[in-house]
Amino acid sequence: MVSRFGFIIISFVSLLCCYTIAKADEIRDMAITALAIAQPNSFKNNIEYCGLIGYHRSGALLFSPPIPGFKNSCNPGLNPWAWREVVATYHTHGAHTYDSDAEVPSLEDMLADFAEGTDGYIATPGGRVWHVSVKDRKAYLLCDVGCITSDQRYRECEGLKPASEYTLKTLKQRIDEDEVVCE
Ligand SMILES: [Zn+2]
Repeated sequence: MVSRFGFIIISFVSLLCCYTIAKADEIRDMAITALAIAQPNSFKNNIEYCGLIGYHRSGALLFSPPIPGFKNSCNPGLNPWAWREVVATYHTHGAHTYDSDAEVPSLEDMLADFAEGTDGYIATPGGRVWHVSVKDRKAYLLCDVGCITSDQRYRECEGLKPASEYTLKTLKQRIDEDEVVCE
């Protein structure tokens, strides 16, 4: 009897685990789709585009269409639709530049996501995709150069090649130690 009860608990916990992972995968895939759609206009106009990812009242996971922002910022809006729950934001980084933070999340990106308590997904000119995880207080490189559309002018700068993850501290180190010259 005891063991059967234990089995039930284990089954429940493992179901819960996999449901959470499946949800996380869905959100990631949705973010990559939204970012891929936003990239061409972001390169053409050299500004950020952004939007929200969340559960609609119907229960469907959706993203709001990418809206134009500015050179270094973008506000995805508050609640354009009848969201039941907003689970993430997404934004692009405009066209190719050799600035040290073009191919990684900026410190401001991470700080804003942490302050708002909402995960962020970011596309870079090189076609990299990042996930800023509020839970882990880290940014993870989800997929590397060319994962989604990259700017035709994009050229990899060896010295600016990002690591696969950053904390606020290691990201600040990257910016502080940036002496790379790529033209
Ligand atoms: Zn950013």
